[in-house]
Amino acid sequence: MVQIKDYVALKKDELKKRILLLPKKPTLKIIQVNDDYASNSYIKGKIKDLNEIGANPILEKLSPFTSQAELLKIIDETNKDKNVNGFIVQLPLPKQIDENVVKCAIDPKKDLDGFNPLTKFKSATPKGILTYLKDQGYDFKGKNGLIIGRSNIVGKPMAKYLLDEDMTVTVAHSKTPLDNLKLFVQNADLIIVAVGKPEFLNKTFTFKKTAFVIDVGINRDKDNHLVGDCEKDLPVSYQSPVPGGVGLLTRLALLINLVEGCEKYGL
Ligand code: NAD
Repeated sequence: MVQIKDYVALKKDELKKRILLLPKKPTLKIIQVNDDYASNSYIKGKIKDLNEIGANPILEKLSPFTSQAELLKIIDETNKDKNVNGFIVQLPLPKQIDENVVKCAIDPKKDLDGFNPLTKFKSATPKGILTYLKDQGYDFKGKNGLIIGRSNIVGKPMAKYLLDEDMTVTVAHSKTPLDNLKLFVQNADLIIVAVGKPEFLNKTFTFKKTAFVIDVGINRDKDNHLVGDCEKDLPVSYQSPVPGGVGLLTRLALLINLVEGCEKYGL
C-alpha cells in the first residue's frame, strides 16, 4: 500500500490538473456558525488544501448566536449563488439550530459534505477511505467488512458504500456484546474502527493475518498526543496510521467532491 500522505499528495496534483481544465476556478464556501477551537483548525486545513489545488475558498463566519431562520436564509442565497460551486456548513451547530433542518436545506448538487438525504455526493470520511482502498486495488467483493461504530457521518454511510462494493457487512456498536465483537473481528477481512476510544481495538483480539484495519479515531492520550482507536502494530496485513491517516483522506474527499461536482454538474 502507498502511504496515505504520499497518496494524498499525488491525488492533489491530479486534482490541480483537472481544475486547469475547468472553465473557471471552482469556489467552495464554508459557512461557520461556531467559534470552537477544533472547527477553526479544521477550517484552516480545508482552506490550505483548497488553495493548494488552485480552488477558491470563501469563509463566511457567522456569530454563534445566529438564529436558524438567519442561517436558512444564507443557505438559500448560497444555493442560488452562481459564483459558489459547492459549500459546507461546518459542524457542530449551536443549540438553537436543528442540524437536520440545515442538512435538508442544502442544495443536493452543492452539498459537498454529503449531508442532505438526497445528496449527489458521498460523505467525506467514508468516501476518503473507499477511494483510497479502491485506488490501491483493494478487492472488496465477497469479503467480510466489519465497521465498529454506527455514527451518521462514518459508520452508517460506510456500511452502505461497502455493501455497494459487494462486501458482507457487519456493523458493531456500543450495545454489541464484547464476545460477539471478538468473533466478528476474528472473521473480518476489512475492519473500519470509528469509536473514539484509544486502543479500543487491541492485541487481546484475534485477527486474520490478511486483515486490513482502517483507524478512523482521533483522540488525545494522557500526554496530549494524537492517537487513533487502535493499538499500534496490530498483527494484520495493513493498519492505517494516526496521525497521517484517515484525517488526510477526509480532507482529500472534500476536494474530490468539489472537482467532481464541477465536472459532472457544470457547477
Ligand atoms: P461517535 O463519536 O458519534 O460515536 C461513537 C460510536 O462508537 C457509536 O456509534 C457507538 O455505538 C460506538 N461504540 C461506543 N462504544 C462501543 C463499544 N464498546 N463497542 C462497539 N462500538 C462502540 O462516532 P464518530 O463521529 O464516527 O467518531 C468516532 C471517532 O472517529 C472519534 O474519535 C472521532 O473524532 C473520529 N472521527 C475522525 C474523522 C477523521 O476524519 N479522521 C472523522 C469523523 C470522526
